[in-house]
Amino acid sequence: MLSITKLFHFEAGHRLSNYDGPCKNIHGHSYKLHISITGEKLTNGILIDFKVLKKIVETAVINEMDHSLLLKRNELNITATENLGSKILWLDEDPTAEYLVTYIGSKIQNELPAGIRLLRLRLYETDSCYAEMEYSV
Ligand SMILES: [Zn+2]
Repeated sequence: MLSITKLFHFEAGHRLSNYDGPCKNIHGHSYKLHISITGEKLTNGILIDFKVLKKIVETAVINEMDHSLLLKRNELNITATENLGSKILWLDEDPTAEYLVTYIGSKIQNELPAGIRLLRLRLYETDSCYAEMEYSV
């Protein structure tokens, strides 16, 4: 199966609400996102122009998440940040790598052109830790 992969990165802060350990504190990561897509048809030898994929991912994900504080929408987080004046992305769940990779996947899937499908998403939280989502094709 033919696929292409493009790498992105973004900086974001987060905290885990239901975690007994240091990750309950607000801290940041330099996230790396590897996006692999596939499709049936090549046009002039191209599955999807890397520039087009870049624009889709930046618009759907990177612009929203880069230099944001990623937080689960709950009373404690809302109260604690109400006067911060920060760029906050409110999420339905705690921003674990596992949740973020599924969140990112759902946002990208909605924007891909006809005939192009997600194959795999890999989100590195650190150099040695990532969550991965594989899609059935
Ligand atoms: Zn973290």
